[in-house]
Amino acid sequence: MIKSVDILIIGAGPSGCVAASYLHNKGLKIKVIEKSKFPRFVIGESLLPRSMDHFDESGLLDCLMDFGFEKKYGARFMKNDLVCNFFFNDKYSEGWDWTWQVTRKDFDNVLTSELIKRGVDIVFEHEVIDIEFNNLGNSKTTIKNNDGDIYKIKAKYVIDSSGYGRVLPRLLDLDMPSKLENRGSIFTHLNDINRPEGFSGVQPSFDIIDKNNWFWIIPFSNGVTSIGYVGSLDVLNSLKGTTTKKMSEVLKLTKNFYSRFKNINFLFDPIEINNYSKSVKQLYGKGYVLTGNSSEFLDPIFSSGVAFATESSLKASKLIFKELNNESIDWEEEYSNYIKYGVNVFTSYIKEWYTGNLQTLFFHKPENPKIKKQICSVLAGYVWDKTNPFVRKHDSIIKNLAYLINSGKTSKINSK
Ligand SMILES: Cc1cc2nc3c(=O)[nH]c(=O)nc-3n(C[C@H](O)[C@H](O)[C@H](O)COP(=O)(O)OP(=O)(O)OC[C@H]3O[C@@H](n4cnc5c(N)ncnc54)[C@H](O)[C@@H]3O)c2cc1C
Repeated sequence: MIKSVDILIIGAGPSGCVAASYLHNKGLKIKVIEKSKFPRFVIGESLLPRSMDHFDESGLLDCLMDFGFEKKYGARFMKNDLVCNFFFNDKYSEGWDWTWQVTRKDFDNVLTSELIKRGVDIVFEHEVIDIEFNNLGNSKTTIKNNDGDIYKIKAKYVIDSSGYGRVLPRLLDLDMPSKLENRGSIFTHLNDINRPEGFSGVQPSFDIIDKNNWFWIIPFSNGVTSIGYVGSLDVLNSLKGTTTKKMSEVLKLTKNFYSRFKNINFLFDPIEINNYSKSVKQLYGKGYVLTGNSSEFLDPIFSSGVAFATESSLKASKLIFKELNNESIDWEEEYSNYIKYGVNVFTSYIKEWYTGNLQTLFFHKPENPKIKKQICSVLAGYVWDKTNPFVRKHDSIIKNLAYLINSGKTSKINSK
């Protein structure tokens, strides 16, 4: 007989775990299918304060608190000698003023171990390979286990949190080109033996080469640091040889960090991901919803990936719970439009980052404290706070201010 559950969740990354925790706590019967064996490496290591709200509300914060991940209090943007520091305790919106920078293999493992301890049914090394929906939205999912055996599970709802696996976008032909330009990234970890003592050594930092090319430096509490280059495909494609050779070559571009990292071996062969920005035609359908990276991924510059993954899965879980309790849900308004609002805010910031306008604003001196607080809220992930003009007017405010700076009308900015 085919097993039946209320909710089948594809993928046990942060998105799937938040959904599983919330719905399990509500008494629903959950099954999580995860393709990999945990712990496993995945990129997405610098979190945003907004995701703390999601871990808290889904009951996953306490288990994370105990692990000892490096606390993240803000972000440092550097360009040659210029520095712009954002501290989340100096932001406009109410909300968390810190979060973590995490090795995701540990982070995701803590989440799944906690869920298993609480009795959530998670299977690893099982892969969703097909799903059929009937016209009521009930589904039959086909799964292959690590021995190659195939079995099926019925569910009232499927949450696709399969991240880069993009299971439903592939199966239901939902993929759509992203509005963002194609870019690529190459990254690895190293033992950070030259890490400076004190706060500056553990600050997550962005070293800006020019408006299209930049590095991330994310130090972890175990002495390891994540380094990554993001840039145009032209630069990446011009590099030859192994990924280790390519990474060593691009590392020379980081003036502020090259001497710290230059003679250290990488802990694994650098990974190169090109064309990472993804989008979909729709975020939900009868009997299913897409959350996290399986729906949309923008760009790593503002570390928004995990915060969106958990925002969307918590939101979707709340709506599914209501719907299964016979409440009528307007999925277009309550889910799709809500998520797209936040995505659109970040999309404006990402576009204006690569036009150079946002960088102009970040490095403009003297800083305007009021403007900085409002931008800081966006960088903390509070992109649904429409009282913040840097949220509400996201599509015009950055270019307008950069225009004033570039045309020398800086007195207007300083008086805002
Ligand atoms: C270069 C780069 C840098 C980034 N840096 C950051 C950052 O600093 N901060 C940040 O917040 N985000 C960052 N991101 C984004 C981040 O990686 C993702 O947004 C985040 O991991 C999404 O979480 P998720 O739970 O949706 O998916 P994932 O964490 O990818 O989890 C999905 C899970 O689904 C499983 N799965 C896939 N297919 C199947 C299947 N068929 N059946 C069963 N299971 C399946 C996978 O094995 C995986 O464990 C970065 C992305 C890139 C490309």
